Amino acid sequence: MEAGGHSQLVWFLITVNLAGKVAALLVGWTAPAAALALWFGPDALLAYHLFAPAAQGLVRMPRRFATGRREVWLTIDDGPDPDDTPRLLDLLAVHGARATFFVIGEMAARHPDLIRAIAAAGHEVAHHTHTHPLASFWCASPARVGWELDAGLGVLRAAGVRPTRFRPPAGIKNLWLARALRARGLTCVGWSARGLERWCSAAAQVADRALRGLAPGAILLLHEGPRVPAAIRVEAIRVVLDRLREQGYQCVVPRSEKLVG
Ligand SMILES: [Zn+2]
Repeated sequence: MEAGGHSQLVWFLITVNLAGKVAALLVGWTAPAAALALWFGPDALLAYHLFAPAAQGLVRMPRRFATGRREVWLTIDDGPDPDDTPRLLDLLAVHGARATFFVIGEMAARHPDLIRAIAAAGHEVAHHTHTHPLASFWCASPARVGWELDAGLGVLRAAGVRPTRFRPPAGIKNLWLARALRARGLTCVGWSARGLERWCSAAAQVADRALRGLAPGAILLLHEGPRVPAAIRVEAIRVVLDRLREQGYQCVVPRSEKLVG
């Protein structure tokens, strides 16, 4: 959707939501079922656009890339982490794999050396907000969204990196995100499969989930850092890389014009 389409949808959602609330109050107790539908119906529509990874109306969030080869894009969120990142860089080097690290600004501020190491190893450093506000990003004000982007950009630029790609925590969108990203030269990236490590106790389980329906052009979402259960930190990505190699897949970082969906 082009730039105008995003803002048209934002105002449509706001208008329908407010109109629904007013209509619900007018209908009131004379027709309680209709009042409930008018009150909550537009909320459900808004929630779909904010929370469904497949929804593309508010922010375009590609979930695949076009390729004729056995290639996937490995994306690793929530770093940098002083324990995991160096081990991941070694692992990726052993496999000849390239990856994109969607890093948290606060963590990058504590470990700028790791940001430089990621870039020096030929991987991409991308933006994953400054504070990772998982529970509140969906309703953050335009000022807060701008701050999350600018604070993270400042830290990364100080480490010598100018990111062009962004992923919000858990892929949850915000009404003001498209405009804020555009103003800063950032584009959003989604995923086609994720490991959901927090709900897994074994590395093989993560790999099963991340590689289900594996096909050329997949975007795999995995995590590093303390939110991943201790027993599978780095190990889950090791198993994913082993299985990708067994199946003849290479990990690449695609150019933006290749992204689809
Ligand atoms: Zn995250």
